[in-house]
Amino acid sequence: MSIEHAVEKLQVLLGARLSLNNSDLELHGRSETYHAPANPDAVAFPRNTEEVSALVKICADEHCPVIGFGVGTSLEGQTQAPLGGISVDFREMKAIRTLRQEDMDATVEPGLTREELNDELRATGLFFPVDPGANATLGGMAATRASGTTAVRYGTMRDNVLGLEVVLADGRIIRTGTRARKSAAGYDLTALMIGSEGTLGLITALDLKLQGQPEAVTAAICAFESIDAAVSCVIETIQLGLSMARIEFVDTASVAAFNKQSKAGMPEMPHLLLEFHGTETGVSEMAAVFGDIAADHGGLGFEWATKREDRDALWHMRHNAFYAIKQSRPGCLSIVTDICVPISRLADAVNETIADLAASGLSGPILGHVGDGNFHAILLVDPDSPQELNSAKLASERMVKRALAMGGTATGEHGIGIGKLPFMTAEHGDGWEVMGDIKKALDPLNIMNPGKLVPPSN
Ligand SMILES: Cc1cc2nc3c(=O)[nH]c(=O)nc-3n(C[C@H](O)[C@H](O)[C@H](O)COP(=O)(O)OP(=O)(O)OC[C@H]3O[C@@H](n4cnc5c(N)ncnc54)[C@H](O)[C@@H]3O)c2cc1C
Repeated sequence: MSIEHAVEKLQVLLGARLSLNNSDLELHGRSETYHAPANPDAVAFPRNTEEVSALVKICADEHCPVIGFGVGTSLEGQTQAPLGGISVDFREMKAIRTLRQEDMDATVEPGLTREELNDELRATGLFFPVDPGANATLGGMAATRASGTTAVRYGTMRDNVLGLEVVLADGRIIRTGTRARKSAAGYDLTALMIGSEGTLGLITALDLKLQGQPEAVTAAICAFESIDAAVSCVIETIQLGLSMARIEFVDTASVAAFNKQSKAGMPEMPHLLLEFHGTETGVSEMAAVFGDIAADHGGLGFEWATKREDRDALWHMRHNAFYAIKQSRPGCLSIVTDICVPISRLADAVNETIADLAASGLSGPILGHVGDGNFHAILLVDPDSPQELNSAKLASERMVKRALAMGGTATGEHGIGIGKLPFMTAEHGDGWEVMGDIKKALDPLNIMNPGKLVPPSN
């Protein structure tokens, strides 16, 4: 039994669709943040569920690690292969198997990206709302329980996946859930798989809920004198129950990065970026109510974007914030924090983070999906300074401790991978051991994405 034997057998199964090419190995062994690369031994490009099942059976026979791969935008080292093995890239599985407009749902393959799906849906009047910044695959998004700018209105992947087709660690193919909008039929295996980061099985199809495209959409940006004022405005908006489709916060340093990269011409102050969805009347009413709340908090210089191209430019800039911020310190490493707290604690969490980063002398622009209580400090670190890296890791740890003390979580959306393992006991206590028990029951050989998410003994 060995990885080498697995590779030989997979070459017979997949032919040229098993790559041993160095550039493929490197591409699949690294991530977008500071985690050290760890290449797989080979990269497989299966074309259908049966091939995935046959591949996993071979890997189980040979005790060879299997790591799912979408487009590799995850931020916590989820796709690295610390024990080697086979990276299973789903780029050849991106069909929309069935689109059912009358039920407002679709069954898609995991390699389809959210933008590709929405391009296909454009003429139907429907869309898929979950929107992480990156053009991620739907398989990767389900595996990380992704969310993003629109979660405040439409929820996360947990709320938008009805069912899954999954290849388990022994090669069995199962269907979880149904297309019914609700079900009380036993354990919720769909929910178990969503957010399992490929540690329990490989997703080979997803039944997705779709939404009707809103009749009217308006976006806006609004500046504030202080972070406190912007965050208080968000808290009041959410507590009043105003139906925001997006409400994003960016601090002054993030705005400076936008100005430099996108020539945004924004005043260098904290901003909220917003969007409303609804009927023409509904959207104007919501915008007016929000305008009043913002005015009470000293909101300045509202700029509305009703034309599609202006909105697209605004959200393109927001989605590229990570890269714009990285560019603000060329050559830096980034540690992306991802805490999420109950909305009433948001101002405390943001203010304490700012004070901590200032005291630590760290550069860490802050931005986030504040309508959900989720924000990121992107800690920019000199790769040649072990002290700076250590100081950033300690600051990140303190952020998590504060979030947990406030009833929040270490990660609102990026997931665990390797990077957030140190916080799992603090967040879940014995519950983390139970996750390990589930993993052992479903993957006794520990071949599915080993070294991630569950306690290291697994
Ligand atoms: C600029 C930027 C902005 C981001 N913003 C957000 C954001 O707002 N919200 C958010 O949630 N995330 C965000 N992310 C993180 C990232 O985009 C998400 O985690 C995304 O869901 C990853 O999708 P992917 O296709 O790149 O998956 P990958 O990175 O390829 O894989 C992610 C995980 O899923 C597993 N996996 C992949 N495909 C499958 C499959 N078919 N079956 C089983 N397991 C599988 C992998 O093994 C890995 O554990 C951002 C990342 C970047 C770079």
